[in-house]
Amino acid sequence: VPALIVDPGENERLARSPRRAAFYAGAVASLAAALRERGVRLQCRRGRLPATARALARDTGAETVVWAAAYDAAARERRRELQSALEEAGLRALEVHDAPAVHPEATAAARSAEGGLGYRAFAPFAAVWETLERAPVATNPAFADVEAKADLLPTPAEGGAEPPSEARALGRLDAFLAGPVLQYSAARNVPGTDGTSRLSADLSFGTIAARTVLARIDARLRDAFLLTEERLALRAFARALTRRDFFLQLAWFFEERPDEPLQARMRGFPWRASHPHFAAWCEGRTGYPLVDAGMRELRATGWMHPRARLAAASFACFDLGLDWRVGRDAWERMLAEDEPACASGNWQWIAGIGADLAQFPRIYNPRKQLRAYDPRGVYVRRWIPELANVADAELFGPVPSGRPQLALPLFAPEYPAPLLDHEQAARDFLRRYGAYVKRAADAGDSRARRANR
Ligand SMILES: Cc1cc2nc3c(=O)[nH]c(=O)nc-3n(C[C@H](O)[C@H](O)[C@H](O)COP(=O)(O)OP(=O)(O)OC[C@H]3O[C@@H](n4cnc5c(N)ncnc54)[C@H](O)[C@@H]3O)c2cc1C
Repeated sequence: VPALIVDPGENERLARSPRRAAFYAGAVASLAAALRERGVRLQCRRGRLPATARALARDTGAETVVWAAAYDAAARERRRELQSALEEAGLRALEVHDAPAVHPEATAAARSAEGGLGYRAFAPFAAVWETLERAPVATNPAFADVEAKADLLPTPAEGGAEPPSEARALGRLDAFLAGPVLQYSAARNVPGTDGTSRLSADLSFGTIAARTVLARIDARLRDAFLLTEERLALRAFARALTRRDFFLQLAWFFEERPDEPLQARMRGFPWRASHPHFAAWCEGRTGYPLVDAGMRELRATGWMHPRARLAAASFACFDLGLDWRVGRDAWERMLAEDEPACASGNWQWIAGIGADLAQFPRIYNPRKQLRAYDPRGVYVRRWIPELANVADAELFGPVPSGRPQLALPLFAPEYPAPLLDHEQAARDFLRRYGAYVKRAADAGDSRARRANR
Protein backbone atom coordinates (compact mmCIF):
# COMPACT_ATOMS: atom_id res chain seq x y z
CA VAL A 1 0.00 0.00 0.00
CA PRO A 2 1.85 3.13 -1.11
CA ALA A 3 1.46 5.89 1.47
CA LEU A 4 2.52 9.46 2.02
CA ILE A 5 2.51 10.88 5.52
CA VAL A 6 2.69 14.64 5.68
CA ASP A 7 4.38 15.22 9.04
CA PRO A 8 4.22 18.81 10.34
CA GLY A 9 7.97 18.79 11.11
CA GLU A 10 8.96 17.68 7.61
CA ASN A 11 6.41 20.00 6.10
CA GLU A 12 7.84 22.95 7.96
CA ARG A 13 11.29 22.21 6.52
CA LEU A 14 9.92 21.95 3.02
CA ALA A 15 7.92 25.13 3.36
CA ARG A 16 11.03 27.18 4.21
CA SER A 17 11.77 27.35 0.49
CA PRO A 18 8.66 27.98 -1.65
CA ARG A 19 10.39 26.40 -4.67
CA ARG A 20 11.17 23.28 -2.70
CA ALA A 21 7.60 23.04 -1.44
CA ALA A 22 6.32 23.43 -5.02
CA PHE A 23 8.73 20.80 -6.35
CA TYR A 24 7.70 18.37 -3.62
CA ALA A 25 3.98 18.87 -4.21
CA GLY A 26 4.45 18.52 -7.98
CA ALA A 27 6.46 15.32 -7.54
CA VAL A 28 3.82 13.85 -5.21
CA ALA A 29 1.06 14.75 -7.66
CA SER A 30 2.87 13.01 -10.52
CA LEU A 31 3.52 9.93 -8.36
CA ALA A 32 -0.16 9.78 -7.39
CA ALA A 33 -1.15 10.10 -11.06
CA ALA A 34 1.25 7.32 -12.11
CA LEU A 35 -0.16 5.03 -9.41
CA ARG A 36 -3.73 5.92 -10.37
CA GLU A 37 -3.02 4.77 -13.90
CA ARG A 38 -2.17 1.39 -12.42
CA GLY A 39 -5.40 1.35 -10.42
CA VAL A 40 -3.72 2.12 -7.07
CA ARG A 41 -4.41 5.00 -4.69
CA LEU A 42 -1.56 6.83 -2.93
CA GLN A 43 -2.75 6.91 0.67
CA CYS A 44 -2.16 10.36 2.10
CA ARG A 45 -2.44 11.20 5.79
CA ARG A 46 -1.50 14.35 7.63
CA GLY A 47 -0.21 14.28 11.18
CA ARG A 48 2.76 13.31 13.30
CA LEU A 49 4.62 10.47 11.68
CA PRO A 50 4.53 7.80 14.44
CA ALA A 51 0.83 8.01 15.37
CA THR A 52 -0.34 8.60 11.81
CA ALA A 53 1.64 5.69 10.36
CA ARG A 54 0.39 3.41 13.10
CA ALA A 55 -3.23 4.37 12.44
CA LEU A 56 -2.78 3.95 8.69
CA ALA A 57 -1.23 0.51 9.18
CA ARG A 58 -4.19 -0.47 11.36
CA ASP A 59 -6.75 0.84 8.85
CA THR A 60 -5.14 -0.93 5.90
CA GLY A 61 -4.40 -4.18 7.71
CA ALA A 62 -0.64 -3.85 7.20
CA GLU A 63 1.72 -6.04 9.24
CA THR A 64 4.93 -4.48 8.05
CA VAL A 65 5.71 -0.82 7.43
CA VAL A 66 8.65 0.03 5.18
CA TRP A 67 10.09 3.50 4.69
CA ALA A 68 13.09 5.19 3.19
CA ALA A 69 15.85 6.33 5.56
CA ALA A 70 16.54 10.01 6.04
CA TYR A 71 20.02 11.39 6.60
CA ASP A 72 19.61 14.67 8.46
CA ALA A 73 19.41 14.47 12.22
CA ALA A 74 15.89 15.88 12.72
CA ALA A 75 14.28 13.55 10.18
CA ARG A 76 16.23 10.60 11.56
CA GLU A 77 14.91 11.33 15.03
CA ARG A 78 11.34 11.30 13.67
CA ARG A 79 12.00 7.95 12.03
CA ARG A 80 13.35 6.52 15.28
CA GLU A 81 10.12 7.56 16.99
CA LEU A 82 8.23 5.95 14.10
CA GLN A 83 10.11 2.70 14.56
CA SER A 84 9.36 2.60 18.32
CA ALA A 85 5.67 3.42 17.79
CA LEU A 86 5.28 0.66 15.22
CA GLU A 87 7.15 -1.93 17.22
CA GLU A 88 5.16 -1.09 20.35
CA ALA A 89 2.03 -1.75 18.30
CA GLY A 90 3.39 -5.17 17.32
CA LEU A 91 4.14 -4.21 13.73
CA ARG A 92 7.28 -4.98 11.80
CA ALA A 93 9.22 -1.83 11.03
CA LEU A 94 11.71 -1.82 8.19
CA GLU A 95 13.90 1.07 7.15
CA VAL A 96 15.60 0.89 3.74
CA HIS A 97 18.36 3.03 2.26
CA ASP A 98 16.79 4.42 -0.86
CA ALA A 99 18.67 7.67 -1.50
CA PRO A 100 22.28 6.49 -1.84
CA ALA A 101 23.33 4.14 -4.62
CA VAL A 102 25.55 2.22 -2.18
CA HIS A 103 24.30 1.83 1.38
CA PRO A 104 26.35 3.55 4.11
CA GLU A 105 26.53 0.25 5.98
CA ALA A 106 27.99 -1.45 2.92
CA THR A 107 30.89 1.02 2.67
CA ALA A 108 31.38 0.90 6.44
CA ALA A 109 31.38 -2.91 6.45
CA ALA A 110 34.08 -2.92 3.80
CA ARG A 111 36.40 -1.08 6.19
CA SER A 112 35.40 -2.81 9.41
CA ALA A 113 38.81 -4.50 9.43
CA GLU A 114 40.32 -1.02 9.96
CA GLY A 115 37.85 -0.25 12.75
CA GLY A 116 35.58 2.75 12.89
CA LEU A 117 32.46 3.24 10.87
CA GLY A 118 31.99 6.01 8.38
CA TYR A 119 34.60 7.70 6.21
CA ARG A 120 35.69 11.23 7.00
CA ALA A 121 37.63 11.62 3.77
CA PHE A 122 36.27 11.30 0.25
CA ALA A 123 39.17 9.55 -1.54
CA PRO A 124 39.22 6.33 0.55
CA PHE A 125 35.41 6.28 0.54
CA ALA A 126 35.33 6.54 -3.26
CA ALA A 127 37.95 3.79 -3.62
CA VAL A 128 35.78 1.38 -1.61
CA TRP A 129 32.48 2.63 -3.10
CA GLU A 130 33.65 1.69 -6.58
CA THR A 131 34.27 -1.91 -5.62
CA LEU A 132 30.83 -2.50 -4.10
CA GLU A 133 27.66 -3.69 -5.70
CA ARG A 134 24.98 -1.04 -6.04
CA ALA A 135 21.39 -1.55 -4.97
CA PRO A 136 19.34 -2.88 -7.90
CA VAL A 137 17.05 -0.57 -9.88
CA ALA A 138 13.44 -1.21 -8.82
CA THR A 139 11.22 -2.52 -11.58
CA ASN A 140 7.47 -2.30 -11.34
CA PRO A 141 6.84 -3.06 -7.67
CA ALA A 142 3.41 -4.56 -6.92
CA PHE A 143 1.02 -2.37 -4.91
CA ALA A 144 -2.40 -3.03 -3.42
CA ASP A 145 -5.24 -0.57 -3.74
CA VAL A 146 -6.93 0.02 -0.41
CA GLU A 147 -9.92 2.14 0.35
CA ALA A 148 -9.28 4.09 3.54
CA LYS A 149 -9.83 7.53 5.01
CA ALA A 150 -7.49 9.86 3.16
CA ASP A 151 -6.31 13.46 3.49
CA LEU A 152 -5.67 15.77 0.56
CA LEU A 153 -2.35 15.51 -1.19
CA PRO A 154 -0.13 18.60 -0.96
CA THR A 155 -1.04 21.01 -3.74
CA PRO A 156 1.62 22.35 -6.08
CA ALA A 157 1.81 26.07 -5.22
CA GLU A 158 3.48 27.07 -8.44
CA GLY A 159 3.98 24.79 -11.39
CA GLY A 160 6.62 25.24 -14.05
CA ALA A 161 5.82 24.48 -17.68
CA GLU A 162 6.27 20.81 -16.91
CA PRO A 163 5.83 19.66 -13.28
CA PRO A 164 8.42 17.34 -11.77
CA SER A 165 7.88 13.66 -12.44
CA GLU A 166 9.85 10.48 -13.01
CA ALA A 167 9.24 10.81 -16.76
CA ARG A 168 10.62 14.35 -16.83
CA ALA A 169 13.68 13.38 -14.75
CA LEU A 170 14.41 10.37 -16.96
CA GLY A 171 13.97 12.55 -20.04
CA ARG A 172 16.44 15.08 -18.66
CA LEU A 173 18.95 12.34 -17.80
CA ASP A 174 18.67 10.69 -21.20
CA ALA A 175 19.07 14.01 -23.02
CA PHE A 176 22.14 14.73 -20.88
CA LEU A 177 23.63 11.27 -21.51
CA ALA A 178 22.99 11.52 -25.23
CA GLY A 179 25.47 14.36 -25.68
CA PRO A 180 26.34 16.99 -23.07
CA VAL A 181 27.78 14.48 -20.59
CA LEU A 182 30.62 13.71 -22.98
CA GLN A 183 32.03 17.17 -22.24
CA TYR A 184 31.23 16.98 -18.50
CA SER A 185 34.86 16.91 -17.30
CA ALA A 186 35.43 20.46 -18.53
CA ALA A 187 31.91 21.79 -18.99
CA ARG A 188 30.79 21.14 -15.40
CA ASN A 189 33.07 24.01 -14.42
CA VAL A 190 31.80 26.43 -17.04
CA PRO A 191 28.63 28.05 -15.74
CA GLY A 192 27.80 29.65 -19.10
CA THR A 193 27.10 26.22 -20.63
CA ASP A 194 24.45 23.67 -19.70
CA GLY A 195 27.26 21.35 -18.76
CA THR A 196 25.75 19.59 -15.74
CA SER A 197 22.71 17.37 -15.41
CA ARG A 198 20.61 19.66 -13.16
CA LEU A 199 19.18 16.58 -11.51
CA SER A 200 19.83 17.58 -7.89
CA ALA A 201 16.21 18.36 -6.98
CA ASP A 202 14.97 15.17 -8.68
CA LEU A 203 17.58 13.10 -6.88
CA SER A 204 16.72 14.66 -3.56
CA PHE A 205 12.99 13.97 -3.89
CA GLY A 206 13.44 10.58 -5.51
CA THR A 207 11.75 11.37 -8.82
CA ILE A 208 14.89 9.66 -10.04
CA ALA A 209 17.10 7.28 -8.07
CA ALA A 210 20.88 7.55 -7.91
CA ARG A 211 21.10 3.88 -8.84
CA THR A 212 19.04 4.54 -11.99
CA VAL A 213 21.41 7.33 -13.03
CA LEU A 214 24.41 5.08 -12.43
CA ALA A 215 22.84 2.15 -14.29
CA ARG A 216 22.29 4.40 -17.31
CA ILE A 217 25.86 5.71 -17.09
CA ASP A 218 27.05 2.08 -17.11
CA ALA A 219 24.90 1.36 -20.16
CA ARG A 220 26.34 4.43 -21.91
CA LEU A 221 29.87 3.26 -21.07
CA ARG A 222 29.20 0.07 -23.01
CA ASP A 223 29.23 2.09 -26.25
CA ALA A 224 32.33 0.77 -28.03
CA PHE A 225 32.76 3.96 -30.07
CA LEU A 226 33.37 6.30 -27.15
CA LEU A 227 36.62 8.23 -27.12
CA THR A 228 38.85 8.00 -24.07
CA GLU A 229 37.97 11.55 -22.92
CA GLU A 230 34.29 10.74 -23.28
CA ARG A 231 34.68 7.69 -21.05
CA LEU A 232 36.51 9.83 -18.52
CA ALA A 233 33.69 12.38 -18.66
CA LEU A 234 31.10 9.67 -17.96
CA ARG A 235 33.21 8.45 -15.04
CA ALA A 236 33.47 12.00 -13.71
CA PHE A 237 29.68 12.25 -13.82
CA ALA A 238 29.40 8.95 -11.90
CA ARG A 239 31.88 10.40 -9.40
CA ALA A 240 29.46 13.26 -8.69
CA LEU A 241 27.00 10.63 -7.44
CA THR A 242 29.77 9.01 -5.39
CA ARG A 243 30.23 12.39 -3.74
CA ARG A 244 26.54 12.52 -2.94
CA ASP A 245 26.72 9.05 -1.36
CA PHE A 246 29.78 10.23 0.57
CA PHE A 247 27.94 13.14 2.17
CA LEU A 248 24.92 10.94 2.94
CA GLN A 249 27.13 8.39 4.74
CA LEU A 250 28.93 11.22 6.53
CA ALA A 251 25.62 12.47 7.94
CA TRP A 252 24.61 8.89 8.71
CA PHE A 253 27.67 8.02 10.75
CA PHE A 254 28.59 11.40 12.25
CA GLU A 255 25.16 12.36 13.43
CA GLU A 256 25.71 13.32 17.03
CA ARG A 257 26.47 17.01 16.36
CA PRO A 258 24.82 17.76 13.04
CA ASP A 259 25.27 21.50 13.25
CA GLU A 260 28.82 21.41 14.53
CA PRO A 261 31.99 21.23 12.43
CA LEU A 262 33.16 17.69 11.79
CA GLN A 263 36.69 18.83 12.71
CA ALA A 264 36.59 19.01 16.50
CA ARG A 265 39.43 21.56 16.69
CA MET A 266 37.36 24.06 14.67
CA ARG A 267 34.29 23.96 16.94
CA GLY A 268 35.23 27.17 18.74
CA PHE A 269 36.23 29.21 15.69
CA PRO A 270 34.79 32.74 16.04
CA TRP A 271 32.74 33.02 12.85
CA ARG A 272 30.62 36.13 12.51
CA ALA A 273 26.90 35.70 13.09
CA SER A 274 26.12 38.65 10.82
CA HIS A 275 27.80 41.11 8.49
CA PRO A 276 26.67 44.49 7.15
CA HIS A 277 27.09 43.11 3.59
CA PHE A 278 25.02 39.97 4.21
CA ALA A 279 21.92 41.38 2.46
CA ALA A 280 24.04 42.43 -0.53
CA TRP A 281 25.47 38.90 -0.75
CA CYS A 282 21.98 37.37 -0.61
CA GLU A 283 20.70 39.72 -3.31
CA GLY A 284 23.70 39.47 -5.65
CA ARG A 285 25.03 43.01 -5.14
CA THR A 286 28.57 42.45 -3.83
CA GLY A 287 30.26 43.85 -6.95
CA TYR A 288 31.91 40.47 -7.67
CA PRO A 289 30.13 39.24 -10.80
CA LEU A 290 30.53 35.47 -10.36
CA VAL A 291 29.25 35.62 -6.77
CA ASP A 292 26.38 37.92 -7.72
CA ALA A 293 25.37 35.96 -10.82
CA GLY A 294 25.26 32.77 -8.74
CA MET A 295 23.11 34.33 -6.05
CA ARG A 296 20.76 35.86 -8.61
CA GLU A 297 20.47 32.53 -10.42
CA LEU A 298 19.58 30.87 -7.12
CA ARG A 299 16.95 33.49 -6.30
CA ALA A 300 15.45 33.26 -9.77
CA THR A 301 15.48 29.48 -10.27
CA GLY A 302 16.07 27.61 -6.99
CA TRP A 303 19.33 26.20 -8.35
CA MET A 304 22.86 27.54 -8.67
CA HIS A 305 25.62 26.31 -10.92
CA PRO A 306 28.19 24.30 -8.89
CA ARG A 307 31.12 26.54 -9.91
CA ALA A 308 29.23 29.63 -8.76
CA ARG A 309 28.34 27.80 -5.52
CA LEU A 310 32.03 27.47 -4.72
CA ALA A 311 32.71 31.16 -5.33
CA ALA A 312 29.58 32.42 -3.55
CA ALA A 313 29.99 30.16 -0.50
CA SER A 314 33.70 30.98 -0.22
CA PHE A 315 32.86 34.70 -0.35
CA ALA A 316 30.36 34.32 2.50
CA CYS A 317 32.72 32.29 4.73
CA PHE A 318 36.01 34.07 4.07
CA ASP A 319 35.44 37.52 2.57
CA LEU A 320 32.55 38.21 4.95
CA GLY A 321 33.77 35.78 7.64
CA LEU A 322 30.19 34.62 8.10
CA ASP A 323 29.34 31.47 9.98
CA TRP A 324 28.89 28.67 7.41
CA ARG A 325 25.49 27.91 8.98
CA VAL A 326 24.29 31.43 8.14
CA GLY A 327 25.18 30.91 4.47
CA ARG A 328 23.76 27.41 4.38
CA ASP A 329 20.48 28.55 5.93
CA ALA A 330 20.17 31.48 3.52
CA TRP A 331 20.44 29.02 0.61
CA GLU A 332 18.04 26.68 2.35
CA ARG A 333 15.34 29.29 1.90
CA MET A 334 15.91 29.43 -1.87
CA LEU A 335 17.04 26.00 -3.09
CA ALA A 336 14.59 23.59 -4.70
CA GLU A 337 16.68 20.51 -3.82
CA ASP A 338 16.09 19.02 -0.41
CA GLU A 339 19.35 17.45 0.61
CA PRO A 340 20.31 18.76 4.09
CA ALA A 341 23.17 16.26 4.43
CA CYS A 342 24.74 17.51 1.17
CA ALA A 343 24.11 21.14 2.10
CA SER A 344 25.90 20.86 5.47
CA GLY A 345 28.62 18.60 4.08
CA ASN A 346 29.48 20.97 1.24
CA TRP A 347 29.30 24.12 3.37
CA GLN A 348 31.60 22.55 5.95
CA TRP A 349 33.94 21.44 3.18
CA ILE A 350 34.11 24.98 1.79
CA ALA A 351 34.60 26.49 5.25
CA GLY A 352 37.51 24.10 5.82
CA ILE A 353 36.00 22.56 8.92
CA GLY A 354 34.47 19.37 7.53
CA ALA A 355 35.53 16.33 5.55
CA ASP A 356 38.61 17.88 4.05
CA LEU A 357 42.22 17.11 4.58
CA ALA A 358 43.48 20.46 3.28
CA GLN A 359 45.64 22.23 5.84
CA PHE A 360 44.36 25.71 5.05
CA PRO A 361 40.94 26.95 4.01
CA ARG A 362 40.46 26.99 0.25
CA ILE A 363 39.71 30.64 -0.39
CA TYR A 364 38.42 31.13 -3.93
CA ASN A 365 39.36 34.37 -5.66
CA PRO A 366 36.09 35.40 -7.34
CA ARG A 367 37.82 37.36 -10.11
CA LYS A 368 40.29 34.61 -10.98
CA GLN A 369 37.44 32.10 -10.97
CA LEU A 370 35.51 34.30 -13.37
CA ARG A 371 38.47 34.74 -15.69
CA ALA A 372 39.12 30.98 -15.70
CA TYR A 373 35.57 29.68 -16.07
CA ASP A 374 33.51 32.45 -17.64
CA PRO A 375 36.09 34.44 -19.59
CA ARG A 376 33.55 35.91 -22.04
CA GLY A 377 31.11 36.75 -19.28
CA VAL A 378 28.34 34.58 -20.75
CA TYR A 379 27.07 33.44 -17.37
CA VAL A 380 27.46 36.68 -15.49
CA ARG A 381 25.76 38.72 -18.21
CA ARG A 382 22.87 36.26 -18.26
CA TRP A 383 22.11 37.00 -14.60
CA ILE A 384 23.36 40.57 -14.26
CA PRO A 385 21.77 42.73 -16.95
CA GLU A 386 23.76 45.73 -15.69
CA LEU A 387 26.84 44.07 -17.19
CA ALA A 388 25.37 43.63 -20.67
CA ASN A 389 27.42 46.42 -22.19
CA VAL A 390 30.53 46.16 -20.04
CA ALA A 391 33.67 45.10 -21.93
CA ASP A 392 35.03 41.62 -21.11
CA ALA A 393 38.23 43.06 -19.60
CA GLU A 394 36.25 45.21 -17.18
CA LEU A 395 34.47 42.15 -15.77
CA PHE A 396 37.65 41.03 -14.05
CA GLY A 397 38.30 44.28 -12.24
CA PRO A 398 36.17 46.86 -10.48
CA VAL A 399 33.89 48.77 -12.83
CA PRO A 400 35.41 52.29 -12.82
CA SER A 401 33.23 54.35 -10.55
CA GLY A 402 33.77 57.51 -12.63
CA ARG A 403 31.92 56.01 -15.60
CA PRO A 404 29.07 58.31 -16.69
CA GLN A 405 25.64 57.10 -15.62
CA LEU A 406 23.25 56.29 -18.42
CA ALA A 407 20.46 58.80 -18.23
CA LEU A 408 17.66 56.82 -19.86
CA PRO A 409 15.44 54.98 -17.35
CA LEU A 410 15.27 52.13 -19.87
CA PHE A 411 18.76 51.09 -18.86
CA ALA A 412 19.39 49.01 -15.76
CA PRO A 413 21.09 50.82 -12.87
CA GLU A 414 24.84 50.57 -12.79
CA TYR A 415 26.42 47.53 -11.26
CA PRO A 416 27.93 48.25 -7.81
CA ALA A 417 31.67 48.56 -7.30
CA PRO A 418 33.11 45.74 -5.13
CA LEU A 419 31.92 46.15 -1.55
CA LEU A 420 35.26 45.06 -0.19
CA ASP A 421 38.77 44.24 -1.32
CA HIS A 422 38.93 40.46 -1.73
CA GLU A 423 42.70 40.15 -1.27
CA GLN A 424 42.62 42.18 1.92
CA ALA A 425 39.59 40.28 3.28
CA ALA A 426 41.25 36.93 2.51
CA ARG A 427 44.45 37.98 4.30
CA ASP A 428 42.47 39.21 7.32
CA PHE A 429 40.63 35.92 7.47
CA LEU A 430 43.83 33.87 7.25
CA ARG A 431 45.31 35.93 10.08
CA ARG A 432 42.29 35.18 12.31
CA TYR A 433 42.36 31.54 11.24
CA GLY A 434 46.10 31.16 11.93
CA ALA A 435 45.77 32.78 15.37
CA TYR A 436 42.86 30.50 16.25
CA VAL A 437 44.63 27.33 15.12
CA LYS A 438 47.74 28.31 17.09
CA ARG A 439 45.69 29.02 20.23
CA ALA A 440 43.90 25.67 19.83
CA ALA A 441 47.25 23.84 19.40
CA ASP A 442 48.77 25.62 22.43
CA ALA A 443 45.72 24.74 24.52
CA GLY A 444 46.03 21.12 23.35
CA ASP A 445 49.74 21.08 24.32
CA SER A 446 49.11 22.47 27.78
CA ARG A 447 46.27 19.98 28.33
CA ALA A 448 48.63 17.17 27.31
CA ARG A 449 51.35 18.52 29.67
CA ARG A 450 48.86 18.67 32.55
CA ALA A 451 47.73 15.11 31.79
CA ASN A 452 51.36 13.91 31.83
CA ARG A 453 52.18 15.53 35.17
C1 LIG B 1 28.51 25.38 -0.82
C2 LIG B 1 27.81 24.26 -1.56
C3 LIG B 1 26.54 23.88 -1.16
C4 LIG B 1 25.88 22.83 -1.80
N1 LIG B 1 24.64 22.49 -1.38
C5 LIG B 1 24.02 21.44 -1.95
C6 LIG B 1 22.73 21.05 -1.52
O1 LIG B 1 22.13 21.67 -0.64
N2 LIG B 1 22.15 19.97 -2.10
C7 LIG B 1 22.79 19.27 -3.09
O2 LIG B 1 22.22 18.31 -3.59
N3 LIG B 1 24.00 19.62 -3.53
C8 LIG B 1 24.64 20.68 -2.99
N4 LIG B 1 25.87 21.05 -3.44
C9 LIG B 1 26.57 20.18 -4.40
C10 LIG B 1 26.45 20.54 -5.88
O3 LIG B 1 26.82 21.87 -6.12
C11 LIG B 1 25.05 20.31 -6.42
O4 LIG B 1 24.64 18.99 -6.15
C12 LIG B 1 25.05 20.54 -7.94
O5 LIG B 1 25.21 21.90 -8.19
C13 LIG B 1 23.78 20.10 -8.54
O6 LIG B 1 23.76 20.40 -9.90
P1 LIG B 1 23.64 19.24 -10.97
O7 LIG B 1 22.51 18.35 -10.60
O8 LIG B 1 23.61 19.85 -12.32
O9 LIG B 1 25.02 18.47 -10.71
P2 LIG B 1 25.82 17.41 -11.60
O10 LIG B 1 27.21 17.94 -11.76
O11 LIG B 1 25.11 17.03 -12.82
O12 LIG B 1 25.95 16.16 -10.62
C14 LIG B 1 24.98 15.12 -10.59
C15 LIG B 1 24.53 14.90 -9.17
O13 LIG B 1 25.62 14.52 -8.35
C16 LIG B 1 25.41 15.02 -7.04
N5 LIG B 1 26.53 15.90 -6.67
C17 LIG B 1 27.35 16.57 -7.49
N6 LIG B 1 28.26 17.27 -6.77
C18 LIG B 1 27.96 17.04 -5.47
C19 LIG B 1 28.53 17.48 -4.24
N7 LIG B 1 29.59 18.31 -4.18
N8 LIG B 1 27.95 17.06 -3.10
C20 LIG B 1 26.88 16.24 -3.10
N9 LIG B 1 26.32 15.78 -4.24
C21 LIG B 1 26.86 16.18 -5.41
C22 LIG B 1 24.11 15.81 -7.04
O14 LIG B 1 23.08 14.99 -6.60
C23 LIG B 1 23.96 16.15 -8.51
O15 LIG B 1 22.62 16.37 -8.88
C24 LIG B 1 26.53 22.13 -2.84
C25 LIG B 1 27.81 22.53 -3.25
C26 LIG B 1 28.44 23.58 -2.61
C27 LIG B 1 29.83 23.98 -3.06
